[in-house]
Amino acid sequence: MAGEPQADCLFCKIVAGEVPATIVRETETTVAFRDINPQAPTHVLVIPKVHYPDAATLAAAEPQVIADILRESREVAVEDKVEDRGYRVVFNTGAGAGQTVFHAHLHVLSGRGLQWPPG
Ligand code: C5P
Repeated sequence: MAGEPQADCLFCKIVAGEVPATIVRETETTVAFRDINPQAPTHVLVIPKVHYPDAATLAAAEPQVIADILRESREVAVEDKVEDRGYRVVFNTGAGAGQTVFHAHLHVLSGRGLQWPPG
């Protein structure tokens, strides 16, 4: 069924507590944890507890959860004291855009100068 946990999904395992992660926040619908390979001093992933392969399919099926994820990105910035400095939020969507884990996730990046356009 759409949104159900997938046995072979790493991020579903993090949600279930079967794979360790440095969790910074958790809500009824989301989990936020530090990226294992940080690209900035603040690099946190905010993921839905439900499984969808990317942000687009999540937005189509459960738009409220996308709103929850974006709300949580601000809470992560507040927690890391980077809200005033500014932060970047990114949904890599599709392998061609650099997506490597096919469970929707929002990158929250801050704590260093961020260039535009991104690489
Ligand atoms: O957008 P993309 O799919 O490339 O992002 C996946 C992210 O998940 C990477 O930044 C990677 O470092 C992170 N990751 C993680 N913990 C894991 C496996 C991957 O934080 N156990």
